[in-house]
Amino acid sequence: MNKKVDVIVVGGGVCGSLSAMTAAKLGAEVIVCEEHKEIGVPEHCAGHISVSGLKRLELSLPKKIVENEIKGAVFYSPSGKEFTVRCASPVTYVVNRQLLDKHLAGLAEKAGARYLLESRAESFIVDSDFVKGATIKRRGVKETLASSLVIEAEGCSSVLLKKAGLQTLDRSMVVHAIEAEVDRVKDVEVDMVEVYLGRRYAPDFFVWLIPKRDGSAKIGLAAKTGDPREYLHRFMHNHPVASKKLRNSKITSLSLHPIPLGGSIPKTYGNGFLVVGDAASQVKPTTGGGIIFGSLCSKIAGEVAYEALKSNDFSKDFLSRYQSRWRELIGFDLAAMRRIRKLLNRLPDDKVDKFIGLCSKFEVNKILEEVGDLDFQGKSLVHVVQHPSALIVALYFVFSSLISASSQRNVLR
Ligand SMILES: Cc1cc2nc3c(=O)[nH]c(=O)nc-3n(C[C@H](O)[C@H](O)[C@H](O)COP(=O)(O)OP(=O)(O)OC[C@H]3O[C@@H](n4cnc5c(N)ncnc54)[C@H](O)[C@@H]3O)c2cc1C
Repeated sequence: MNKKVDVIVVGGGVCGSLSAMTAAKLGAEVIVCEEHKEIGVPEHCAGHISVSGLKRLELSLPKKIVENEIKGAVFYSPSGKEFTVRCASPVTYVVNRQLLDKHLAGLAEKAGARYLLESRAESFIVDSDFVKGATIKRRGVKETLASSLVIEAEGCSSVLLKKAGLQTLDRSMVVHAIEAEVDRVKDVEVDMVEVYLGRRYAPDFFVWLIPKRDGSAKIGLAAKTGDPREYLHRFMHNHPVASKKLRNSKITSLSLHPIPLGGSIPKTYGNGFLVVGDAASQVKPTTGGGIIFGSLCSKIAGEVAYEALKSNDFSKDFLSRYQSRWRELIGFDLAAMRRIRKLLNRLPDDKVDKFIGLCSKFEVNKILEEVGDLDFQGKSLVHVVQHPSALIVALYFVFSSLISASSQRNVLR
C-alpha cells in the first residue's frame, strides 16, 4: 500500500483536472489516475463551448487552444428550411479538445496535483462502508492507493460506480455519437455553426457542422439506435443542403463515443466519494454539451473535498453539500432541458419543418439574439416565452410534440 493521500481523482479529462486543480490550489494533496498514456488522447469531442461559460469558470484560454470564434447558428429543417440566429460578437469558441485537456492538467499540476498516467482505477477500496482509496493497474502492475476521498471523473463509460453497486447513468437516455473532421467544406460561413434537424439523419438528436478557419470542419451526430457511421455517410451524401457543401470533402479523422442525455444521476456523493462530469451525467440534455456544466460541478467538488479534509468528515451527510450546491446552480436548467429533449425526440420531421418555419415567421431569432446565455437554457426559456411571438411558437412546439406522442401510442395499441 502506498502512502495515503488526501484526494484521488479518477480520470484526467476536463472534469477530473478541474476538481484536482481546485482541491490542490486550496491545499489538498491530490493524485490523478489517468488510464491513457497521454492526456486528451484519444479525443472524442467537438469542443464547442460558450464564452459566458468560460467566464463563469474564470478560465482564460491560450490562443492556440481556440480554433474558431462563433457568432451564431443556422438551423436547417429536414426539408431544408433555414432559421438563423446571429449575434454581434462571438458567443461560443471552438476549442481543440486535446489541447484544452492538456492545458487544464497543466494548471492542476502547477497547483500541486500529481498525475499517474497509464494508471487505470479498477475498483474502490471500501472499508466500514466508506470509500478509502482505489486499486489501480499501473503499466500492468496492480497497486492500492489509499486516500481520504475519491473524486470519480471517469466519464460516460464509468465502471467504478457500477462495481460498487451504485446507481449509474440512465442508459435509456444515452446516445451513440460520432465526431469527424472533414476538409474542403464549401459555402459555410466561417463564424456560424450549422445544426441539421431530422430523424432521417440523426434520430433523437441532430447533426452539427462546426467550421474551422482553415476551410475544414468538425461534423458529428448522435443516435440512440443504429450505427452513427451509417447516419453520417447518409448525411454527407444525401442531405439536400449539406451534401452540396460536402461534395469535395474527405473525412480526415473519426471517433465514436457515448453522450448521456438523461440529466444527472440521482446521487453524486457517498461515504468517501464524489462523482463529477459525464460519470454523473452533468450534461445538457438538449445539445449534449458537458464541458461547462461538468466543469462548474467539478470545481464545486474540489471545494467540498477541501472542506471535508478541513473538517475531517468524509461522511455522505457532510458530502451531500456538493449535490445541494451544484443543484442550486444547474438543477433547474438540467431538468428543463431534459423535458425539452424528450419533447424534441417526439417531434416528427414534418412538425420540425413547420416549427422552423414558424420561428422565422415570428422572428424568434431577434429574441434569442438578446438572451445570450447558451448554457442555462431553462432560465433562458422562461425569459424567451415572455415575448408573445415566442410564446406562440413554444406552444406550437409543445402541443405538436404531445399530439405526436399520443398518436404514436395509438398506432402501437
Ligand atoms: C462526439 C461528442 C461531441 C461532443 N461535443 C461537445 C461540445 O462540443 N461541447 C461540449 O461542451 N461537450 C461536448 N461533448 C461532451 C463532452 O465531451 C463531455 O461532456 C466531457 O468530455 C466530459 O468530461 P469528463 O472529464 O467528465 O469525461 P471525459 O472527457 O470522458 O474524461 C474521462 C477521463 O477519464 C479517463 N478514465 C476513464 N476511466 C478511467 C479509469 N477507470 N481509470 C483511470 N482513468 C479513467 C478517460 O481516459 C478520460 O481521460 C461531446 C461528446 C461527444 C461524445
